[in-house]
Amino acid sequence: MAEMMENDILIRDVETKNIMTKSNLPVGGYSVNPYVGCTHGCKYCYASFMKRFTGHTEPWGTFLDVKHWREIKNSQKYRGQRVVIGSVTDGYLPQEEQFQNTRKLLEQLKGSGAEILICTKSDLVVRDIDLLREMGKVTVSWSINTLDEDFRRDMDKAVSIERRLCAMKQVYDAGIRTICFIAPVFPGITDFKAIFHRVKNQCDLVWLENLNLRGGFKQEILDYIHEKYPHLINLYQAIYQKGDRSYFRDLEQQAEQLAIESGCPFVDNELPYSLAEPGHPVIVDYFYHEEVRGSENTGKRKRT
Ligand code: SF4
Repeated sequence: MAEMMENDILIRDVETKNIMTKSNLPVGGYSVNPYVGCTHGCKYCYASFMKRFTGHTEPWGTFLDVKHWREIKNSQKYRGQRVVIGSVTDGYLPQEEQFQNTRKLLEQLKGSGAEILICTKSDLVVRDIDLLREMGKVTVSWSINTLDEDFRRDMDKAVSIERRLCAMKQVYDAGIRTICFIAPVFPGITDFKAIFHRVKNQCDLVWLENLNLRGGFKQEILDYIHEKYPHLINLYQAIYQKGDRSYFRDLEQQAEQLAIESGCPFVDNELPYSLAEPGHPVIVDYFYHEEVRGSENTGKRKRT
């Protein structure tokens, strides 16, 4: 097994029997992660739990396993299925430029009829526009939860917001369905309306999801808020220590109002696959989305 250090990242080769894994995401289908680990190293990363299953002891964001898998021969099996690329990594990490695992995966899925969703914080995806255009139902989603580069830099090591926006425009202009995933929404920090107005002419969907604080990073984020945004600490304690959901309920109403004012549909999932009328992206309310799972897009929440 080859192993090397590159720019302070420990990189290894790993063999994987099956690159396609059944997904437990709300959108169902399969999830595919061409790498183990994610060098964007987001402070709030829910995927950092992966470390437990992979034997990695290094800090999240400082290791990357490059997967090697047997070529997908029966890609027709995924026809009509949702395939999410990058649920616990980003298929377009800077290292993808060298290893090209995501491009290889796309080539193997070409012609399968699968509905591909790529989740990224990178602009490297622009490299593959040619291939994406040939793949049928493809969607590319960029996570953008701020327009403030200082806050962005505090949270992740991915490319700047400006570069993500520029990539989104290029992919959108190429006729490929795009999403601006406003996530995670940080209470008192994420200005979702400003982001919406910045992206509404270059995306088909705007997804909104609240910040979830679980596990090891909860205290780290609360400490960060305490230090950098002391005026917000009471709000964070109310939400994340006392379980107060009123802030996000209010945001949900504001999002619905924004949708009405902007002539945008307001729904709780993005199915079925379609392109939005230019300038009027579909706003998808994923706040506490575990409450709307299985609601058949009726928006009926299982209130707790
Ligand atoms: S891009 Fe996603 S998977 Fe990667 S560190 Fe950030 S939140 Fe985690």
